[in-house]
Amino acid sequence: MSGDVWVYSESEGVSAEVASAAQDVARGASAEVRVVDIGSPRQGIRGSGVRLLLKGPSGPDVSPAVAAEALARAAKDLSPVAVLLGATRDGREAASRLAAKLGVGCMAEVVKLASDGQGVTGERNVYAGKVVAKTRCQFPAVVTVKTGAYPRAEALPERTQEVEVGQVSDRSKVVGREKKAAGGVDLRSAKVIVSAGRGVKKREDLSMLEDLAVTMHGALGCSRPLSADLGWLPEEHHIGLTGVTVKPDLYLAIGISGQLQHVAGMKDSKIVASINTDKDAPIFQASDYCIVGDLYQVVPALRRALSARR
Ligand SMILES: Cc1cc2nc3c(=O)[nH]c(=O)nc-3n(C[C@H](O)[C@H](O)[C@H](O)COP(=O)(O)OP(=O)(O)OC[C@H]3O[C@@H](n4cnc5c(N)ncnc54)[C@H](O)[C@@H]3O)c2cc1C
Repeated sequence: MSGDVWVYSESEGVSAEVASAAQDVARGASAEVRVVDIGSPRQGIRGSGVRLLLKGPSGPDVSPAVAAEALARAAKDLSPVAVLLGATRDGREAASRLAAKLGVGCMAEVVKLASDGQGVTGERNVYAGKVVAKTRCQFPAVVTVKTGAYPRAEALPERTQEVEVGQVSDRSKVVGREKKAAGGVDLRSAKVIVSAGRGVKKREDLSMLEDLAVTMHGALGCSRPLSADLGWLPEEHHIGLTGVTVKPDLYLAIGISGQLQHVAGMKDSKIVASINTDKDAPIFQASDYCIVGDLYQVVPALRRALSARR
């Protein structure tokens, strides 16, 4: 084995986070980190370190199937000790395909990665975040790293190594593209998040919370039902086990009951404040400040108070 730890994600931001995790693995394994680009070089992630360009696949996007095949071909030649991917939708698919092609173990949604020199160790939330499982996979290993769990890697010197992997055909074909109606929210870097739950009765009422978020220089997030079930907000707004993990300075949960699956994504926020009509709502157990009240009264009052202070 070459002793390298490879990093790949279709998203440059996630790649930079995964590079941080890779540094922890590389330290324990006396290995080097290599950030992989497939097809063409990307603009460059600050802190990506040594870059590996897999040449051959072409086209504007690299599908999970193509990524897995290109990584597998290169890995068979270069034998990295571990390949780390971001646990995005595409990353999860690429990782499972890659592990199957290489016939190695795959650890999913891992945080706190390290290495004992013989394998990768890490932690992952199980039972909706109620239990933390310590996991280990011997080298060579494929791992998906939970997004939002690591800061972006520090700047490192950059060198590029090119590897020819040949054309990779994809059995799926992109037949069209549609731009998402809204989005562009970066909850992972937001200092303040105003988060909406099912306590919000109508889609139009979200503008009230959006205004509050703007007043507080924050971003608007939500519980899963608002994006996945009702479609009131794009899916990148949804926080929790199956959504984004966030760690803002202030998390304001409005009309959110605080089920485990939601709390798993925001429990590391510095300060949590909640507004809920139910004094026994579980979110209050995860909160530093609790307002028992109707959001339709509390939110406008809060906004007036904050605006008056300016
Ligand atoms: C496998 C799996 C994964 C999941 N992943 C996620 C995830 O990643 N993220 C996530 O969020 N959920 C997730 N869920 C769903 C989760 O279990 C809950 O159903 C969801 O979080 C509940 O959303 P909510 O709190 O907005 O709604 P509810 O549970 O319906 O709570 C609404 C809250 O609003 C309060 N309320 C009502 N009216 C008002 C008012 N006028 N003013 C103030 N408060 C009011 C109520 O008292 C209540 O507490 C997942 C579920 C499963 C099974």
